[in-house]
Amino acid sequence: MRYSRAFIPTLREIPSEAQAVSHQLMVRAGLIRQLAAGVYSFLPLGWRVMQKVMRIIREEMEAIGAQEFHFPALNPIEIWQQTGRVEAMGDVLFMLKNREGLVLAPTHEEVVAFHARQHIKSYKDLPQIWYQIQTKFRNEPRPRFGVLRGRQFTMKDSYSLDATWEGLDESYRKHAHAYHRIFRRCGLRFFVVGASSGAMGGSLSQEFMVESPAGEDTCAVCPQCDYAANIEVARSAVEPTPRLPESQPLERFPTPGVRTIGDLVQQFALPEERCAKALVYIADGKPVMVLLRGNDELNQTKLQSVLGAVWLRPATPEELYSLTGASAGSIGPIGLPSPLLILADERLREANELVSGANSDGYHYRHIDLRRDCRIDAYVDVRTVQAGEPCPQCRTPLRIVRAIEVGHIFKLGTKYSEALGATFLDEEGQERPIIMGSYGIGVERIIAAFIEQHHDEHGICWSPALAPFHVHLIELGGERQPSVRQMADRLYEQLWQAGIETLYDDRPESAGVKFNDADLLGLPLQLIVSPRGLEAGQLEIKERCSARRHSVEPERIIAVIQQLLERISELEPIAVS
Ligand code: ATP
Ligand code: MG
Repeated sequence: MRYSRAFIPTLREIPSEAQAVSHQLMVRAGLIRQLAAGVYSFLPLGWRVMQKVMRIIREEMEAIGAQEFHFPALNPIEIWQQTGRVEAMGDVLFMLKNREGLVLAPTHEEVVAFHARQHIKSYKDLPQIWYQIQTKFRNEPRPRFGVLRGRQFTMKDSYSLDATWEGLDESYRKHAHAYHRIFRRCGLRFFVVGASSGAMGGSLSQEFMVESPAGEDTCAVCPQCDYAANIEVARSAVEPTPRLPESQPLERFPTPGVRTIGDLVQQFALPEERCAKALVYIADGKPVMVLLRGNDELNQTKLQSVLGAVWLRPATPEELYSLTGASAGSIGPIGLPSPLLILADERLREANELVSGANSDGYHYRHIDLRRDCRIDAYVDVRTVQAGEPCPQCRTPLRIVRAIEVGHIFKLGTKYSEALGATFLDEEGQERPIIMGSYGIGVERIIAAFIEQHHDEHGICWSPALAPFHVHLIELGGERQPSVRQMADRLYEQLWQAGIETLYDDRPESAGVKFNDADLLGLPLQLIVSPRGLEAGQLEIKERCSARRHSVEPERIIAVIQQLLERISELEPIAVS
């Protein structure tokens, strides 16, 4: 491609609306432009990168025997009603106003189960792996960071259909293998975490994560062993609250003005570990009280999974008052006016000598013995792991990091096949629901995550695998130096003939402008044809990422470029875990 004829609208200034580095650079390097909130056009350079990522994905999916489909984005709402996901997706599901009965698909489990029902009849028709690379629509409440969280985006989604649970394990394993290869080939440093399946309703799921400040997920990662988990399911080996040998008699005492655990600890010189805070949530319309130790933080997603609730929210101050008789600072598990489900965090299991609210404003109880003084319906893990807590596997202090979820693999089970009647006859002639898995990759997210990890103050640093072109040919002769121009023209031909994708900056711009744009676009190699170089019979190559420079005679240039591209590809960082 000749730059003079290309549509590459680069920007010198950082666009004010872009917070994430990847967003800034994707706009500045002319890869994308915003059309509406969370909706982006891919410009030619950006689309070339998309195609490269999609090619890698296709190759690895085909390698595990997956077959490519193309499902419609317009879906009949009935199939979504049958699985209960119109409710579960809520406002994220785009509805159409002028055509009732159709929705825009945010994912395709329903469609897959629909077709499986039509044509999968027997165990002999299984297993199957179906995939597509297609546009998804999600009315994200907060589209952010450019293409990292869009309302319309491209997903590789695949679905496994199996007759047995062992079959599902195998399909899941194949996907995990393919995902490792895909992200590795894309040059991402990633880690894999156990995750919460959320509204998908599956049993086991893992997320592929890329550490980055632009990430919207939080993960606990062990710097020593392979433990890594989304904060929504992360555990740690924190000390439980020890049960003291003796429980003193329960005592109600006045605590005027106490609103928080901090107040309680300060004003009454109580150890924080002996304070139990009580929170009230409404889960699918039913109230539930949760007891946590001192300043431990509740993790709402953990609570939601424990309860299997679709809807979860904190009780309003009015609800709190009518359920407990007190406001937030003074509630507790003893003396509730109405019966509530009471859960306590594992860290408080069987604890005694605790302090908690008395369900009367300005009063607390002390010497509470959870065994003796109140009913705890269940001990559950609902606290949020904090940085520095010991790893559950090796006790090394955990790191808490921000990360971008680039891929997600789920063992779904039979939820969707049962809801849509996708059954098959097993070897004994018994009718059974097909066992499903579902597996997603955000194509744009791979690109943004790559840029988050591979850039410097001048621009993007592409790897040969994802770069829109491999070589940025820069001609510095201009009209007054026809021999330089001729040499560059000839090199451009030769490079393409050798299969090396080349962007040729033939614009009548200054050297400074050309170098800045070359660094911003970030193609792996810059090939500079200058009058001074030619006088000495030399061409100059600059490696974009390392800034290493090489002087090469024109006759050897193709071979050297091929070697360098190969070497840079090899040097790409390999994956963690
Ligand atoms: P998130 O928690 O970030 O919303 P999700 O759990 O909703 O993600 P999945 O439904 O598992 O995501 O979708 C599969 C993949 O699609 C994700 O791993 C991610 O890479 C990508 N993806 C999901 N939502 C978006 C979005 N709004 N914009 C871009 N990519 C997305
Ligand atoms: Mg989501």
